[in-house]
Amino acid sequence: MLCNDYYIKKLLGFKGIILEQLDTSSDSISFSFSLEIKTHNCPRCHQQTNKVHDYRIQMIKDISISGKKTYLYYKKRRYHCKHCNKNFYEKNHFLPRYQRMTSRLIQYIISRMKNIYSVSDIAKENNISPSTALRLFRYINYSLTKLPEVLSIDEFKGNAGGKKYQCILTDPKNKKVLDILYGREQYILSEYFNKFEDRNKVKYFVMDMWQPYKDIAETYFKNATIVIDKFHFIRQVTWAFERIRKDEQKKFSKYRRRYFKRSRSLLLKRSKYLKKDEIDEVNIMLTTSTKLQQAYLLKEKFYDFVDSKDLESAKKNLKAWYMYVMSCELEEFEKCSRTIFNWQKYILNSFTCPYTNGYTEGVNNKIKVLKRNAYGVRNFHRFKNRIMHVMN
Ligand SMILES: [Zn+2]
Repeated sequence: MLCNDYYIKKLLGFKGIILEQLDTSSDSISFSFSLEIKTHNCPRCHQQTNKVHDYRIQMIKDISISGKKTYLYYKKRRYHCKHCNKNFYEKNHFLPRYQRMTSRLIQYIISRMKNIYSVSDIAKENNISPSTALRLFRYINYSLTKLPEVLSIDEFKGNAGGKKYQCILTDPKNKKVLDILYGREQYILSEYFNKFEDRNKVKYFVMDMWQPYKDIAETYFKNATIVIDKFHFIRQVTWAFERIRKDEQKKFSKYRRRYFKRSRSLLLKRSKYLKKDEIDEVNIMLTTSTKLQQAYLLKEKFYDFVDSKDLESAKKNLKAWYMYVMSCELEEFEKCSRTIFNWQKYILNSFTCPYTNGYTEGVNNKIKVLKRNAYGVRNFHRFKNRIMHVMN
């Protein structure tokens, strides 16, 4: 018996234990203990017994004390039932079944994983392996049961579960990550959304220009206004412009190319945000190529459309933009304007819908950080659990 029994028991927080030994070293603390003898009911015949059969020592990891690895050596008792001859283990309240860690250590690790720390670091800090840490997610369940009023769908490059892109569902209104799907293909989405009975509740379906999303939205969300997120349709124009810029720049001699330092960021910047000296630089670049000049104009005119104050002026500005594109005869922009035209109905909805994929984009950036820190991201379910855990 230890003289400071009372305090140590308080420290451990376990009731009804008998402390038998305490060992400390420079980096660890070990407690040996057993439980008080109690009358148990035999699990087989339900008769009472308090006859001890034997002991087995089980090592259990616990939350570290003063930065030292903490081990509990639990002298686990087996009772003997003389009525039916069965031997059985006593009951305890601090250890989940088949677990080598205390409940509070599990809770602690799960709470630590709410942060974007790497799983390896968290595991190391708690003296367990990363795979054990990740396995603890089986105690938490993140599955979506109800659909929101505003549903945003997007993808990110997760490279998990053998697929390049994973699909992320969020509720931009309440800023919540709802679920992660292992792919963004039609059959995956279809199987997923089919099981929800409250699909008619969804009022807005915010997405990018990915055909399967459109098919899903039109098939399953009849009550929803389908909206293409602004960032995603602007990107189409940026891409068209970039293809032209790169092509044109390649044509220049080394001598002239020096005018094109920082050309990408300067030319892509909205002209109304350019500073005085930047305007001069842009003008020099634009005088080098008529094609580039036209592309620049088309890009700027598209932003006029994006800036439209309301749906009516948006419609008008978009029509005007189509006209400009036709008159310029740039193949890249003609292709781009056909795409915009095909998605026009849902693009225009963005002028009346107050929700964007902005929240989702933010989440996707955090996911990138998680991926960098992540152990076990190849396993889709583990990766998903981790994302859901950190984001919600
Ligand atoms: Zn029995």
